[in-house]
Amino acid sequence: MKNSITEEKKTFSFDKNFSLNILCARPDKYKQLEGISRDYDEIINTGSNLSYSPLGINQNGVSLEFKKFNRIINFNKNEKTITVEAGILLIDFLNFTLSKNLWIPQLPGYPTITIGGAVSANSHGKSCALHGTIRKSIKSILLYHKINGWLELSENKNKDIFDLTIGGLGLTGTIVQVTFNLVQIENTSFNTKKINVDNIKECEKYFKKDNKNSSFIYSWHRADSLGNFGKGIIYENYIDSQSSKNFKNFRIKKSKFNSLLFPVWNKFSISLINFIFFYFNNFEKKEKKEDFLKVIFPFYGKENYFNFFGKKGFLEIQLLISQDNIQQFLDEFKKTLQNL
Ligand SMILES: Cc1cc2nc3c(=O)[nH]c(=O)nc-3n(C[C@H](O)[C@H](O)[C@H](O)COP(=O)(O)OP(=O)(O)OC[C@H]3O[C@@H](n4cnc5c(N)ncnc54)[C@H](O)[C@@H]3O)c2cc1C
Repeated sequence: MKNSITEEKKTFSFDKNFSLNILCARPDKYKQLEGISRDYDEIINTGSNLSYSPLGINQNGVSLEFKKFNRIINFNKNEKTITVEAGILLIDFLNFTLSKNLWIPQLPGYPTITIGGAVSANSHGKSCALHGTIRKSIKSILLYHKINGWLELSENKNKDIFDLTIGGLGLTGTIVQVTFNLVQIENTSFNTKKINVDNIKECEKYFKKDNKNSSFIYSWHRADSLGNFGKGIIYENYIDSQSSKNFKNFRIKKSKFNSLLFPVWNKFSISLINFIFFYFNNFEKKEKKEDFLKVIFPFYGKENYFNFFGKKGFLEIQLLISQDNIQQFLDEFKKTLQNL
């Protein structure tokens, strides 16, 4: 059923492997949200549709796009809490909180992800070993469900639904508002330290040592050839508590995701770009100052990495491997590479 707030459109998953003609609804009033929930049997929520797989796309019912619900509802300076609507983008959320020297440290890596999308995926940032996932910062949630209506969720109210909603991929209803406990951030300047490693064992050793002072730590490794397998760079970011820079609002340009007609990436170009990246990193300073956007959203400004896969997109697998099994996994991975 079509009406003034719905639109038919072709949608893609972020990896471009899946596309579908969908009916999309963009309500901007709570009454409209209730109306859509009444009118359609099947509803799936959508934030910025930046999930690699087609999570917010629905074949039979309606995709409920939540980006028009993007207001800051309440801010309590003394208690360091904020209530926002779930369609607010991370960048708009941060422009408000950072101006008060507050934030949540569990931020997924792209600035136009919505708070609703981040909560539904129980997202995390580069400091997840230290700060955990976004769950750790959530005080309460206001949820709307087509049968159960408006529900307040927290550790004390409807705890089972609260637990299911965080990381629940929108299946428990529509997250309408989220209240966060904020923490202090001294400023938005970072120091970034880079450490070269010859193999993953070296990297593992570095990660295992006492890293309690580093806010963010992650590494990049070559896997494009057996000869260079595992060579890489560890990045460690520390908040620069000495900096006296005042916070200025971030300005984010419109989406830069625009796939090329044909892919640029193939076995040879990937190998070449890996070589160039690694080689030029060797000439860069081992310690430098970096701004917030670069550290927290490393893909912002590097969207061509995705665009260069072309219209057919890419396949990406993200694996969690326990430290005890990492070497066995890498040995098997190398054997697979050998047989390619
Ligand atoms: C470049 C890039 C970097 C990323 N980096 C990270 C990272 O570092 N860490 C990490 O954890 N993730 C990362 N992600 C993944 C991203 O955090 C998740 O896919 C996130 O869910 C995307 O949010 P979105 O607003 O685009 O939501 P969508 O993709 O539109 O939706 C995602 C899920 O959330 C549900 N949803 C959205 N809004 C609501 C709502 N209001 N109520 C209920 N359910 C809702 C949808 O139904 C769907 O299941 C990255 C993604 C990209 C593209």
